[in-house]
Amino acid sequence: MPARRVYLETFGCQMNELDSELVAGQLTSLGYRFTSNADDADVVLYNTCSVREQAEQKVWSRLGELRKSKSDKPEMVVGVLGCMAERDGTDLMDRMPVVDVMCGPAELDKLPSLIDNAVRTRLSLVTDDPKAAIKSVKAAALQGSSSRRSGTLAAAGDSLEYLDLSRSVSPIDPIGSLRKSAYVRITRGCNKFCTYCVVPFTRGAEIHRPPAHIIEEVQRLADQGIAEITLLGQTVNHYRFEHGSAKITNGITQPQKGQAFKGGHRRDPLAGTNTTTFADLLYQLHEKVPSVQRLRFVTSYPRDFGDDVLEVIRDCPRLCRYLHVPAQTGSDRMLKKMNRGYTAGEYSEFIDRARHYLHQPEIGRPLMISGDIIVGFPTETDEDFALTVELLERSRYKSCFIFKYSPRPGTVAYDKIPDDIPNSVKRERNNALLAIQNRISDEVSKEQIGCEFDIMIEGPSQHAIKASGHRATKAPSGVQLTIGGKSTGEAEDFSITALLDRFEGDTVQFSGRTDGDQIVMFDAPTATASTLPGRIRRARITDGRGLSLFGELIDS
Ligand code: SAM
Ligand code: SF4
Repeated sequence: MPARRVYLETFGCQMNELDSELVAGQLTSLGYRFTSNADDADVVLYNTCSVREQAEQKVWSRLGELRKSKSDKPEMVVGVLGCMAERDGTDLMDRMPVVDVMCGPAELDKLPSLIDNAVRTRLSLVTDDPKAAIKSVKAAALQGSSSRRSGTLAAAGDSLEYLDLSRSVSPIDPIGSLRKSAYVRITRGCNKFCTYCVVPFTRGAEIHRPPAHIIEEVQRLADQGIAEITLLGQTVNHYRFEHGSAKITNGITQPQKGQAFKGGHRRDPLAGTNTTTFADLLYQLHEKVPSVQRLRFVTSYPRDFGDDVLEVIRDCPRLCRYLHVPAQTGSDRMLKKMNRGYTAGEYSEFIDRARHYLHQPEIGRPLMISGDIIVGFPTETDEDFALTVELLERSRYKSCFIFKYSPRPGTVAYDKIPDDIPNSVKRERNNALLAIQNRISDEVSKEQIGCEFDIMIEGPSQHAIKASGHRATKAPSGVQLTIGGKSTGEAEDFSITALLDRFEGDTVQFSGRTDGDQIVMFDAPTATASTLPGRIRRARITDGRGLSLFGELIDS
């Protein structure tokens, strides 16, 4: 039987990109192959995001487009994965009958068998009775609210750990030769319940992975040539693993539920006890896997960012001077309504403290900070907005995501606080903040002119790839993933040599990143450029515009 072809499209955050990669690895090991064209696929999967309504609308329109393909090809299996599946539940299948399989983010370990069953059942029935086949193949794995209700770790949480673990042992781990960076999850879910946010409902309670599993996964990725690791968690700096209370099942240490959040500490109070704190985890990864050249983490929660963590970053050269710490707003009144648990003053105090510890431009290591802001949260006045402008000016982020508030069903804000800010006001505030941030990003970039940095080289810049008339590729070899709703190209050779063969001329524009996550463009000689990706080289910055720096390599 020829290999079944899968089209997998990913929407939303880095956590979803990682989930898609793990799912792709599992399906590949079952003999599936990937295609970048949904029309060619036997299985179409959308890994969805529910954080804002706009992200969901894209998926609805994709599903609508599939109606025709499905009536031409009734054996096609369609799956909705991730947060939308969890949030909408099986109602989504009633509303959109093309959908056969649904799988929430906490159940993705079950997806390969759901798909496999659906494909087999569909194939065995479709020739006799296509209508019956379509009806019979509906299946869903959703968490519901079980993990939030349970005082102990839900069984689903335990089994999900195997999905993360299996990634590093998979013989077909989809790491292509261009790829030198990888995500590693350290916590799942969230316990914060910001009033606007669906994540605690769609991704469940906060769960911390055992440090040994994380270290092993990082080591295996490093052994396969990965040079840069980004640790992921919704509140990544809240990581903590208490060994005394760890559960072991079938010889495997199980992940642990996050404890009730106390807040306000400068050092994890359990440091030095039988506990791996976030600072300990960073230190251990730095010491135990020295072949990882760069280690970052996202997303940090501003409260409880201890000095212990800042000291470890300061003292460990391969820990990056980059923090993504969303403030959401500069108004204390709004922060309270959002249930963020800190004031604008506390946020700014944290930014100052982080800069005090980590901002060292004199040794080529300035601290770069990025943020997220929501405008138009219910009842936001011009005065509240002015406080956000003040915070944005004060924080001097290298970049900042600015979102218009999107009311999400199921959240406290949706249920209790009417969405009373007109869209035109949200848009105006959004544009005003974007203009301010663009100016600040440009200023921050210009401040780097004349400085020298170690940059990790990624490959030909997106600009160069576009200018050469080819589509940008983000997919690792062997697996076609589409990120952010865009197709990433036909199945093709993703090796750096194949990519460079497309370029004419003596030089090609390459891009790399500073450890503060700033993008640096430079010209590389085409003849030798294939050796560059994944290497750390010294660059002198000659120009800075917007989010980009421009420079030249100065070491040999
Ligand atoms: N856990 C991270 C944190 O708290 O910083 C962020 C996770 S969330 C998926 C990413 C960003 O989406 C948030 O920082 C927030 O700015 C934005 N966001 C979340 N819910 C939103 C909503 N209902 N409307 C607009 N933006 C929202
Ligand atoms: Fe959502 Fe708040 Fe949790 Fe971030 S911390 S995921 S914004 S609930």
